[in-house]
Amino acid sequence: MLVSEVVAELGGVARRMDLERYGCSADQIYLAVNYRNVIKVRRGVYASTGTSPLIVRALRVGGRLACLSALEYYGLAEPQPHIHVEVKANASRLRIEQRGVVVHWTRLPQKGSPLVVSPDRARVQTLTCRDELHLDEHRRVEKRQYVQQ
Ligand SMILES: [Zn+2]
Repeated sequence: MLVSEVVAELGGVARRMDLERYGCSADQIYLAVNYRNVIKVRRGVYASTGTSPLIVRALRVGGRLACLSALEYYGLAEPQPHIHVEVKANASRLRIEQRGVVVHWTRLPQKGSPLVVSPDRARVQTLTCRDELHLDEHRRVEKRQYVQQ
């Protein structure tokens, strides 16, 4: 099986140890990255080519696309100033960029795609989101409703 096929088989993202379990050698992985058959998103983590840049950013942080960014991905929200990423509570080696990343920690078992949360889950996440810009937007909406009454 080609490295790119294994990554696709595993849902579009694979760790190096997963690839090795499928029999991919270090050379094959190296060549797959060099020939751009897969994207190296971070050390030891690979994604299918053609993966949305939003999802690649979330994978680089160390989680999957979430909240408003997931809604943006599904075409249900405007482009967001920050990227919202769901990260397991016990995750390590995160790359939380200085600014622009809103992390949603979760203790719940990961369900669905390893790349992006479902639209339903994304909507729920927006309710507890700590993104200040997002909160401002909420306040503006509340204010508008208040003025209209
Ligand atoms: Zn959020």
